[in-house]
Amino acid sequence: MIVDRQGRRFRNLRVSLTAACNYACTYCVPDGKRLVAAQDELSADALVRGVAYLVEAAGIERLRITGGEPLVSPRLEGFLAGVAKLGLDDISLTTNGQLLARKLALLQEAGIRRLNVSLDSLDPEAFRRIARGGDLAGVLDGMEQARAAGMAIKVNMVPMRGHNLDQVVPLLDYCLERGFELRFIELMRMGHLARDNNAFLQQFVSLDQLLALIGQRHAFEQAQRPVDATALRYRIPGKGHFGVIANESVPFCRACSRLRLSSTGWLHGCLSSSNRHFVADLFDKPRHQALPALQRLLVRALADKQDVAFSGDVMVMKVIGG
Ligand code: SAM
Repeated sequence: MIVDRQGRRFRNLRVSLTAACNYACTYCVPDGKRLVAAQDELSADALVRGVAYLVEAAGIERLRITGGEPLVSPRLEGFLAGVAKLGLDDISLTTNGQLLARKLALLQEAGIRRLNVSLDSLDPEAFRRIARGGDLAGVLDGMEQARAAGMAIKVNMVPMRGHNLDQVVPLLDYCLERGFELRFIELMRMGHLARDNNAFLQQFVSLDQLLALIGQRHAFEQAQRPVDATALRYRIPGKGHFGVIANESVPFCRACSRLRLSSTGWLHGCLSSSNRHFVADLFDKPRHQALPALQRLLVRALADKQDVAFSGDVMVMKVIGG
């Protein structure tokens, strides 16, 4: 097992199935152009072999499929079929929900029981302004269908001043009524926001500001959370829970157990580091050659983690796999 001086190790793997996305969210994509899939994205089989090797080499316990938008990828079906056979404790998926209704049966057949759906506003116009695409009604319909099918759903919202602060309470109420757990993600200094501090600071909403806003509507108390969880959790008695991933206000670097694999075969040990390690060539090698080489790279990827605080990076989230 590869462990660093702070006792951290990789337990959670996030695989970006594709960098392509049907949205171009303002906080994620600098120029508003929707990203297409890179020419050199790996096949579903190569990604599955890679996941299998990483599970063994790093001791991965949980897998999250992300992107880009994983549901737009033609590799989704093959990848799901492959990883379903790996015997992982937990496989979940992060999606913008636009194609959820269409892909739900496929996800269920592959044994996916947990979804994170990104949703920044319940106002159709604000929704489209932030996502620069998409259709709110389709997302809500997909979530309802997934709920009816018994999926556990967490909703990700990035609260931003000037964009969707008025949506914090409506979205929280919407989630509480339906048994979805809303997780607010503090805006991160990623991509263009790492270069433009003014733009970042103008939009950034801190944990304290967020809790003050919620406190005007609901009484809440802090709740227990797993040791390596990135989200602070709060209980609204009799109604449910919500979480806050407070990268800036309460950095969780000391407990981070995330490893990311991009769709083009690069390992990222930390979102706050431009360092990355090419591993796609190892996925074609036999196990006895691949594992020792992977372990050497995993040591380097683990050393990329920040010691204390999240500082962001110029890399674009959807390329790394958010
Ligand atoms: N397309 C999928 C989705 O929309 O959930 C998966 C990829 S998306 C990059 C994953 C998550 O990253 C989303 O919840 C999105 O809100 C978040 N994200 C992207 N850029 C961000 C930023 N600068 N700050 C905070 N969250 C960000």
